[in-house]
Amino acid sequence: MSAAAETIRESDHEHCGCCGRQLPAREVVELGSTPGVFICGGCAIWAARRVGAAAALRQLRFTPLGGLLRRLTGREDR
Ligand SMILES: [Zn+2]
Repeated sequence: MSAAAETIRESDHEHCGCCGRQLPAREVVELGSTPGVFICGGCAIWAARRVGAAAALRQLRFTPLGGLLRRLTGREDR
């Protein structure tokens, strides 16, 4: 058996589970509790806007990016 065209996949691309676009893996992020599902930067910004900037920033503090921002700004939340 030979590989059919439909099995050919760009290995460095992932499918955004929100907008459906195929994007380079470096331009999407995997959902934390849903492995194998990715979201692109544009959809992440759209989702943050939908939920509201204040809520998005509150959630950001629990992510590695939030930890990095705290270290860079020298602010420690207690
Ligand atoms: Zn998307």
